[in-house]
Amino acid sequence: MQTASPNKVAIVTGGGGGIGLAIAENFVSHDITTVIIGRNQEKLNAAGADLGPLCHPVCQDLDDLAALPGLIQQIITRFGRIDILVNNAGINQKKELTDVSDLEFQRILHTNVSVVFALSREVVRSMVAAGNGVIINISSMAAQYGIPKVIAYSASKSAIEGMTKAMAVELAPKGIRVNCIAPGFIATDMSEKALNGDAERKQKVMSRTPMGRLGAPADIGEAALYLVSEGAKYVTGVVLPVDGGNSIGF
Ligand code: NDP
Repeated sequence: MQTASPNKVAIVTGGGGGIGLAIAENFVSHDITTVIIGRNQEKLNAAGADLGPLCHPVCQDLDDLAALPGLIQQIITRFGRIDILVNNAGINQKKELTDVSDLEFQRILHTNVSVVFALSREVVRSMVAAGNGVIINISSMAAQYGIPKVIAYSASKSAIEGMTKAMAVELAPKGIRVNCIAPGFIATDMSEKALNGDAERKQKVMSRTPMGRLGAPADIGEAALYLVSEGAKYVTGVVLPVDGGNSIGF
């Protein structure tokens, strides 16, 4: 059985639903105090009620970069420290390249990359002072191979993998591990929007997924738990596909 040290404090962005909720659920059930951040108060409240007293919902639009230093400071003041950061919040847009405006492109890059950088910087400052910490970033199959109609999303997830490696080497001497999970096609609101109503795309996804089915959010929750556990203490800078074989499928 995987174990994580008790009484750790984690932040999971986008923890109110989908993959983030499954990660938070796994953390809480292993005694990790987990702050979930999202924009939708109702979703956060429901998640908080489900996960119980170790789960602490915080409603904040992370796109507001100026608010992030204060947000992290408040979390540290309340919980004493941050041991784990999961940069899970993300947005997607499916549109032909020629129809994507500069503003739309920047909006995806802002949420999926700039927020991850700014939040990590703030959290890393406190992790450096503590001499340890674990960060997990979330990539995608869109950074493993070419997928049409997701130009900004692909750029953002490729950036996430580069940042993961850069952070991992710079922060390893300071006791901080940084890894990335690359989920395959996981059944959430995001994949539903991308696949439902597009039979051809869904068929293409299935035909190159050797396990023949979508993943469950809990599959990513298990991988995240491993990466924050003592069992992964010598693991840093990796991109771990959790994808039913999709990334290596024919
Ligand atoms: P969902 O759309 O279900 O969830 C995304 C979460 O991100 C929501 O909880 C949302 O919170 C939060 N979020 C988005 N923007 C912001 C913001 N500005 N501030 C705060 N929170 C924000 O997606 P998934 O669970 O499917 O995706 C989670 C991660 O996994 C993403 O990074 C995605 O790119 C990645 N991924 C997903 C795959 C899939 O097949 N589902 C495949 C590969 C990667 P709220 O609703 O409260 O605003």
